[in-house]
Amino acid sequence: MPSDCVFCRIVSGEIPTELVHDDGEFVAFRDIHPQAPVHLLIVPRVHFVSMLDVPDPAYLGRLLDAVRSVAREAGLATDGFRTVINTGRAGGQVVMHLHVHVLGGRAMRDPAG
Ligand code: AMP
Ligand code: ZN
Repeated sequence: MPSDCVFCRIVSGEIPTELVHDDGEFVAFRDIHPQAPVHLLIVPRVHFVSMLDVPDPAYLGRLLDAVRSVAREAGLATDGFRTVINTGRAGGQVVMHLHVHVLGGRAMRDPAG
């Protein structure tokens, strides 16, 4: 666990953050700079830099399962929502700990980039 990783510090409780979801493997919390009325981050408890670093493909499947659980719990299933995974610097990734954005509560515009 890199001690300078903000999401590791949230997962460990070092940075107090309200978790809207915690299934033991993945947590979710509100983005500190929301880009939509609902903007949640789904974050593995284990530190992976990005999806490229995850050795077990089934783990990524469980991550997406957590994403849809969080979206349902947030009331986004009826109207829909946007899921974003930024990978690497050119992908716009700023926090180098794997996470999935869930954005909802308004109509999304295209293109995503
Ligand atoms: P990304 O560009 O995909 O790496 O997105 C990182 C996201 O983490 C940004 O949307 C930030 O607003 C969010 N973020 C950074 N620090 C925190 C924090 N302490 N609590 C909640 N969200 C954060
Ligand atoms: Zn981390």
